Amino acid sequence: MNLVDLRSDTVTRPTPAMRAHMATAPVGDDVFGDDPSVNALQEKIAAMLGKEAALYVASGTQGNLVAIMSHCGRGDEYIVGQMAHTYRWEGGGAAVLGSVQPQPLEHEADGRLALERIEAAIKPNDAHFARSRLLCLENTIGGKVLPIDYLQAATALARRRGLATHLDGARLFNAAVKLGVPASEIAAPFDSVSVCFSKGLGAPVGSALVGSKEFIAAAHRWRKMVGGGMRQAGVVAAAALYALDHHVERLAQDHALAARLAAGLQGLPGLTVETPQTNILFADLQGERAAGLMEHLKSRGVLATGLYRLRFVTHLDVDAEGVDRAIAAMRDYLVH
Ligand SMILES: *Cc1c(COP(=O)(O)O)cnc(C)c1O
Repeated sequence: MNLVDLRSDTVTRPTPAMRAHMATAPVGDDVFGDDPSVNALQEKIAAMLGKEAALYVASGTQGNLVAIMSHCGRGDEYIVGQMAHTYRWEGGGAAVLGSVQPQPLEHEADGRLALERIEAAIKPNDAHFARSRLLCLENTIGGKVLPIDYLQAATALARRRGLATHLDGARLFNAAVKLGVPASEIAAPFDSVSVCFSKGLGAPVGSALVGSKEFIAAAHRWRKMVGGGMRQAGVVAAAALYALDHHVERLAQDHALAARLAAGLQGLPGLTVETPQTNILFADLQGERAAGLMEHLKSRGVLATGLYRLRFVTHLDVDAEGVDRAIAAMRDYLVH
């Protein structure tokens, strides 16, 4: 039985066409700046996001880390959401490797950080405090799209108070497709943006960080220091180039499948389903039943996660039949 793997959009495997593109990619030593595929990818993603320059990095975590280390120095802090990847899910890297303190804030229900909370968190210039240097937002956040007017207001507040701004845009293209705007419009108000090729875009490896030439030059040094200088990386960069040409618009199909899953799960006993905005669906299961659910789903060839809440993610390797199998397995477990 082939598995319906809804744990994450990171589980996609490169398609035959993507593999063919990788197999014929021109390569060189990227530490010398000689890899034509890496250079082409960097130019392409910088242009798509409307920034001067880009850096190909091994992972989203590495992109965010070198971004924070480029914006902040030792004893500085970044303001960030409690559930943001750059705070919760990166092993504390900014603090451990960057000597940069996070100042986490609670999210609003729609994923925003309230402007009043951001303003109140910015520390006065006083020797008691870390220096507030950076505002980090994330879009999509838990599959939710932050409105563009909010991004503009939050970054304007940061600028007025002398803070730089970084967007963790691991799923930036999901947000852009959902809003029907170019990704550059979402990236525009930020000094720097990271974006993942290895999530919904379906590449096997890699992310990019974009920003000004000066910022990317700083990030390039940090990338080397954290071991991210890669050699003939064009082999994997080619997959990202392919994905940018062929896998962006199709994200709408993933969003439609998440909506199909939500509709099928709606009303099952004990289950509260959050209406998905993009490709991530969260649901909460009351009572004791949660414990055995994952095993049951697995026995039916369906994988999901349940660390904080039940989570189902649609992607390139999931089709309507798979979604319907997940719905049937959930129904069999919850309906007696
Ligand atoms: C996946 C993800 C990242 C980066 O993850 P890597 O596994 O390091 O590539 C960063 N931010 C968000 C919001 C993510 O979902």
